[in-house]
Amino acid sequence: MALIVQKFGGTSVGDAERIRAVAEHVARTRAAGDDVVVVVSAMGKFTDDLLRLADDVSPTRPPRELDMLLTAGERISMALVSMALGACGVESASFTGSQAGIITNTEHTRAKILEMRPDRIREALAAGLVPVVAGFQGVSTERDITTLGRGGTDVTAVALAAALKADVCEIYTDVTGVFSADPRVVTKARRLAKVSFDEMLEIAATGGRVLMLRSVELARRHSVPLHVRSSFTWEPGTWIVEEDPTMEEAVVSAVTDDTSEAKITVGGVPDRPGIAAKLFRRLADEGINVDMIVQNTSLNGMTDISFTVAKTDLAAATAACEEVKVEIGAAQVTSDDDIGRVSIVGAGMKSNPGVTALMFETLSENGINIEMISTSSIRISCVLRADRVEAAVRHLHTAFGLDAA
Ligand code: ADP
Ligand code: ASP
Ligand code: MG
Repeated sequence: MALIVQKFGGTSVGDAERIRAVAEHVARTRAAGDDVVVVVSAMGKFTDDLLRLADDVSPTRPPRELDMLLTAGERISMALVSMALGACGVESASFTGSQAGIITNTEHTRAKILEMRPDRIREALAAGLVPVVAGFQGVSTERDITTLGRGGTDVTAVALAAALKADVCEIYTDVTGVFSADPRVVTKARRLAKVSFDEMLEIAATGGRVLMLRSVELARRHSVPLHVRSSFTWEPGTWIVEEDPTMEEAVVSAVTDDTSEAKITVGGVPDRPGIAAKLFRRLADEGINVDMIVQNTSLNGMTDISFTVAKTDLAAATAACEEVKVEIGAAQVTSDDDIGRVSIVGAGMKSNPGVTALMFETLSENGINIEMISTSSIRISCVLRADRVEAAVRHLHTAFGLDAA
């Protein structure tokens, strides 16, 4: 008998019919003899609706109240799924993040889990119930309700799977697994049967939103096998597992796209030690994550530093840079939110020369200008104009031989 954590995303619990289908699936898993812990997201686009409501009532959104508001979405789903399970003859009980013992820090809207104390979930399992846990939420060390960041139900599911030593964490969503590109952008994308944690980290970090990045980090750290699959067809999907040393690695496994970031350039910066440190220390103190960074070669002792941040952090990051500008004697701060990023990911890149060249050739042959480049040992990313990103993904998908027949 296995213990399985089953996470259902927004579309999977989007309406009453979907919720009944989820309950029937959980009932089937139980009937096969396995224990199940269910983790649910808010129904459909409910979290976005709540964010719009918050915008409509106030220009400022106090983070504590925002978290209180947003966690309501998952609360609705957990109660409804629990009721639907009852109707299928499965005894269950729903739990908020706080009741499930998910203890976080006090950083509202992007809280990190500090500790898992899932005693009530263990007790429910021991009593033969199926616990249904509200995703995306926890309770802070100050006893306030927190959320884990957008897409955070994936984190809840993996954290519970790790704490309960589950055999697998199943992520049910609206596609049949992890694909060689977003199937909404590339119709010829193929489903990958297996993806290594390393590759999945890069895919998640560069726009493949099928799994939230932090959930993949957590799964790798605790060796929780992940199985991404469809709640519409229920067919086996993609396994995210430790790299299998006997397997030949694909040179490029996936092409990803991301238009969620913006670029900031601090221009006319004196080229001397300590300048970048001051700038990025200030951004870090504001809790702003910086992604790609490029510094130009200096000319006459002056240089430019460009970097990308989430669009949602752009206003705060620009304001922080304007302040540091005076301190470091930079000439100007400019921002550009009309950019996008295309990346290719593949563990086999390490041992195959020519991958970078083919990427740049493909973009240039299609008249696509590269504005920034960054690489890791298994990824190459290029920043482009936002309106060229989808075309770039499709051309690269074809050029690297990933198109399905
Ligand atoms: P959920 O609500 O179930 O968490 P998400 O919308 O967060 O679902 O993630 C699923 C979506 O991720 C898919 O509908 C798909 O459009 C998108 N996606 C982006 N890149 C990929 C990829 N490489 N493979 C699969 N899906 C992807
Ligand atoms: N409902 C939250 C969101 O939309 C959390 C999640 O779905 O994972 O971001
Ligand atoms: Mg998601």
